[in-house]
Amino acid sequence: MSGFWTEIPPKAARALRLTRGEVLRITDIEGQQVADLVAFDVADPDEYLSQGFTRSNNQKVMPEVGDQLYSNLDKPLLTIVEDTVGVHDMLFPPCSRYLREHRFGIKNETGCREHLAAALEPYGIGSERVTDPFNAFMNARVSEDGTMEVMEATSRPGDYVDLRAEADLIVAVSACASDFDACNGWTCTAIGLSVL
Ligand SMILES: [Zn+2]
Repeated sequence: MSGFWTEIPPKAARALRLTRGEVLRITDIEGQQVADLVAFDVADPDEYLSQGFTRSNNQKVMPEVGDQLYSNLDKPLLTIVEDTVGVHDMLFPPCSRYLREHRFGIKNETGCREHLAAALEPYGIGSERVTDPFNAFMNARVSEDGTMEVMEATSRPGDYVDLRAEADLIVAVSACASDFDACNGWTCTAIGLSVL
Protein backbone atom coordinates (compact mmCIF):
# COMPACT_ATOMS: atom_id res chain seq x y z
CA MET A 1 0.00 0.00 0.00
CA SER A 2 3.06 2.27 0.04
CA GLY A 3 2.36 5.46 -1.92
CA PHE A 4 -1.34 5.21 -1.10
CA TRP A 5 -3.16 8.50 -0.55
CA THR A 6 -6.83 9.24 -0.10
CA GLU A 7 -8.97 12.02 1.25
CA ILE A 8 -11.74 10.86 3.56
CA PRO A 9 -14.72 13.18 2.99
CA PRO A 10 -16.37 14.79 6.04
CA LYS A 11 -18.50 12.30 8.03
CA ALA A 12 -17.12 9.25 6.17
CA ALA A 13 -14.57 6.46 6.71
CA ARG A 14 -12.13 4.36 4.72
CA ALA A 15 -10.45 1.00 5.40
CA LEU A 16 -7.20 -0.39 4.08
CA ARG A 17 -4.69 -3.15 4.67
CA LEU A 18 -1.30 -2.28 6.17
CA THR A 19 1.77 -4.52 5.95
CA ARG A 20 3.98 -4.76 9.02
CA GLY A 21 6.54 -1.93 8.93
CA GLU A 22 4.43 0.42 6.84
CA VAL A 23 3.64 3.84 8.33
CA LEU A 24 0.12 5.25 8.16
CA ARG A 25 -0.09 9.04 8.19
CA ILE A 26 -3.35 10.67 9.33
CA THR A 27 -3.46 14.32 8.26
CA ASP A 28 -5.85 16.97 9.53
CA ILE A 29 -6.29 18.89 6.28
CA GLU A 30 -8.17 21.97 7.52
CA GLY A 31 -7.50 21.77 11.26
CA GLN A 32 -9.56 20.92 14.37
CA GLN A 33 -10.80 17.68 12.81
CA VAL A 34 -10.73 14.41 14.75
CA ALA A 35 -10.06 11.03 13.09
CA ASP A 36 -11.05 7.74 14.75
CA LEU A 37 -8.84 4.73 13.99
CA VAL A 38 -9.62 1.07 14.65
CA ALA A 39 -7.21 -1.78 13.80
CA PHE A 40 -7.49 -5.56 13.41
CA ASP A 41 -4.86 -8.27 13.06
CA VAL A 42 -5.08 -9.76 9.55
CA ALA A 43 -4.14 -13.18 10.94
CA ASP A 44 -7.00 -13.11 13.44
CA PRO A 45 -9.54 -10.25 13.27
CA ASP A 46 -10.71 -11.28 16.77
CA GLU A 47 -7.53 -9.52 17.87
CA TYR A 48 -8.03 -5.77 17.63
CA LEU A 49 -7.05 -2.41 19.08
CA SER A 50 -7.91 -2.00 22.76
CA GLN A 51 -8.11 1.35 24.52
CA GLY A 52 -7.83 -0.40 27.90
CA PHE A 53 -4.67 -2.36 27.15
CA THR A 54 -3.13 0.73 25.55
CA ARG A 55 -3.84 2.92 28.58
CA SER A 56 -2.63 0.24 30.97
CA ASN A 57 0.61 -0.57 29.16
CA ASN A 58 1.55 3.07 28.63
CA GLN A 59 0.31 4.11 32.08
CA LYS A 60 -1.31 7.20 30.60
CA VAL A 61 -4.57 8.27 29.00
CA MET A 62 -2.95 10.20 26.14
CA PRO A 63 -0.39 8.22 24.10
CA GLU A 64 2.53 10.11 22.57
CA VAL A 65 5.53 9.54 20.28
CA GLY A 66 7.24 6.25 21.12
CA ASP A 67 4.13 4.76 22.71
CA GLN A 68 2.49 1.69 21.26
CA LEU A 69 -1.17 0.93 20.72
CA TYR A 70 -2.04 -2.55 22.03
CA SER A 71 -4.55 -5.23 21.13
CA ASN A 72 -7.14 -6.93 23.30
CA LEU A 73 -4.61 -9.80 23.52
CA ASP A 74 -1.89 -7.42 24.75
CA LYS A 75 0.18 -7.31 21.56
CA PRO A 76 1.59 -4.07 20.08
CA LEU A 77 -0.33 -3.32 16.87
CA LEU A 78 0.93 0.20 16.10
CA THR A 79 3.66 2.57 17.27
CA ILE A 80 3.34 6.36 17.21
CA VAL A 81 6.52 7.39 15.38
CA GLU A 82 5.85 11.04 14.55
CA ASP A 83 3.27 13.54 15.74
CA THR A 84 2.87 17.28 15.18
CA VAL A 85 -0.04 17.65 17.62
CA GLY A 86 0.52 15.54 20.76
CA VAL A 87 -3.15 15.59 21.73
CA HIS A 88 -5.12 12.37 21.13
CA ASP A 89 -7.84 10.51 23.00
CA MET A 90 -8.00 6.95 24.28
CA LEU A 91 -11.11 7.32 26.46
CA PHE A 92 -14.12 7.78 24.21
CA PRO A 93 -15.94 5.35 21.93
CA PRO A 94 -16.68 6.47 18.38
CA CYS A 95 -19.68 8.74 17.94
CA SER A 96 -22.62 6.69 16.75
CA ARG A 97 -26.29 6.48 15.89
CA TYR A 98 -26.87 5.49 19.54
CA LEU A 99 -25.05 8.51 20.97
CA ARG A 100 -26.89 10.86 18.64
CA GLU A 101 -30.28 9.49 19.58
CA HIS A 102 -29.83 8.72 23.28
CA ARG A 103 -27.86 11.77 24.34
CA PHE A 104 -28.80 14.41 21.80
CA GLY A 105 -32.23 13.31 20.55
CA ILE A 106 -31.05 13.29 16.91
CA LYS A 107 -32.76 10.42 15.09
CA ASN A 108 -31.71 8.43 12.04
CA GLU A 109 -28.25 9.94 11.65
CA THR A 110 -25.12 7.82 11.51
CA GLY A 111 -21.82 8.48 13.26
CA CYS A 112 -18.25 7.21 13.12
CA ARG A 113 -19.21 3.78 14.40
CA GLU A 114 -21.55 3.15 11.47
CA HIS A 115 -19.12 4.74 8.99
CA LEU A 116 -16.19 2.62 10.22
CA ALA A 117 -18.33 -0.52 10.19
CA ALA A 118 -19.43 0.14 6.60
CA ALA A 119 -15.80 0.58 5.52
CA LEU A 120 -14.86 -2.69 7.27
CA GLU A 121 -17.74 -4.73 5.84
CA PRO A 122 -15.74 -5.93 2.79
CA TYR A 123 -13.16 -7.34 5.24
CA GLY A 124 -15.80 -9.36 7.09
CA ILE A 125 -15.50 -7.32 10.29
CA GLY A 126 -18.82 -6.62 12.02
CA SER A 127 -19.96 -3.44 13.76
CA GLU A 128 -19.86 -5.18 17.16
CA ARG A 129 -16.05 -4.96 16.87
CA VAL A 130 -16.01 -1.18 16.25
CA THR A 131 -15.91 0.00 19.84
CA ASP A 132 -12.64 1.50 21.09
CA PRO A 133 -10.74 3.71 18.63
CA PHE A 134 -7.54 5.70 18.84
CA ASN A 135 -9.10 9.15 18.44
CA ALA A 136 -6.43 11.14 16.64
CA PHE A 137 -6.39 14.88 17.44
CA MET A 138 -9.32 14.55 19.88
CA ASN A 139 -8.90 16.94 22.80
CA ALA A 140 -10.51 15.39 25.88
CA ARG A 141 -9.53 15.55 29.51
CA VAL A 142 -10.44 14.04 32.85
CA SER A 143 -10.98 16.66 35.55
CA GLU A 144 -9.91 16.23 39.17
CA ASP A 145 -13.45 15.24 40.12
CA GLY A 146 -13.39 12.47 37.53
CA THR A 147 -15.66 14.06 34.93
CA MET A 148 -14.66 13.91 31.28
CA GLU A 149 -14.81 16.88 28.96
CA VAL A 150 -14.51 17.16 25.18
CA MET A 151 -12.90 20.36 23.97
CA GLU A 152 -12.10 21.78 20.55
CA ALA A 153 -9.25 19.99 18.81
CA THR A 154 -5.97 21.93 18.86
CA SER A 155 -4.70 20.58 15.52
CA ARG A 156 -3.93 23.10 12.77
CA PRO A 157 -4.18 22.66 8.99
CA GLY A 158 -1.62 20.10 7.80
CA ASP A 159 -0.93 18.59 11.22
CA TYR A 160 -0.42 14.83 11.21
CA VAL A 161 0.32 11.73 13.28
CA ASP A 162 2.31 8.75 11.93
CA LEU A 163 1.63 5.20 13.11
CA ARG A 164 3.90 2.27 12.19
CA ALA A 165 2.23 -1.12 11.81
CA GLU A 166 3.75 -3.76 14.10
CA ALA A 167 1.73 -6.54 12.44
CA ASP A 168 -0.18 -7.00 9.20
CA LEU A 169 -3.34 -5.03 9.91
CA ILE A 170 -6.71 -4.02 8.57
CA VAL A 171 -7.29 -0.44 9.69
CA ALA A 172 -10.28 1.86 9.29
CA VAL A 173 -10.20 5.62 9.83
CA SER A 174 -13.12 8.02 10.00
CA ALA A 175 -13.33 11.78 9.57
CA CYS A 176 -15.34 12.25 12.76
CA ALA A 177 -19.01 13.05 12.20
CA SER A 178 -19.61 14.73 15.55
CA ASP A 179 -21.24 18.08 14.78
CA PHE A 180 -23.14 18.37 18.08
CA ASP A 181 -20.21 19.26 20.35
CA ALA A 182 -16.83 21.01 20.35
CA CYS A 183 -14.93 17.86 19.21
CA ASN A 184 -14.34 19.01 15.61
CA GLY A 185 -14.54 22.74 16.26
CA TRP A 186 -18.28 22.60 15.43
CA THR A 187 -17.59 21.86 11.74
CA CYS A 188 -16.82 18.47 10.18
CA THR A 189 -14.08 18.49 7.54
CA ALA A 190 -11.99 15.96 5.60
CA ILE A 191 -9.06 13.82 6.74
CA GLY A 192 -6.03 12.80 4.66
CA LEU A 193 -4.81 9.23 4.78
CA SER A 194 -1.51 8.08 3.31
CA VAL A 195 0.90 5.16 3.60
CA LEU A 196 4.56 6.17 3.73
ZN1 LIG B 1 -17.00 10.60 15.47
